[in-house]
Amino acid sequence: MDINKNISVDERYILDMNTGVCHDLDNFEIECGIERLSKDCIFSSDNLYAEVKRHPTYKKKCKYCMNPKI
Ligand SMILES: [Zn+2]
Repeated sequence: MDINKNISVDERYILDMNTGVCHDLDNFEIECGIERLSKDCIFSSDNLYAEVKRHPTYKKKCKYCMNPKI
């Protein structure tokens, strides 16, 4: 999937390594601001628990795309 003109990823989750916020590309919102990210500052993975949450820069899940919408 193309996030913006500089980044295309195949994985579902991306981690913004500057802020430590993880986004779910299946549910992302305009508020996520992922179109502003650069290739150097993201880590992408399909495995949220084994890889993203164990990444040294991980801090939290995005409140826009990773909260269940009820
Ligand atoms: Zn998000």
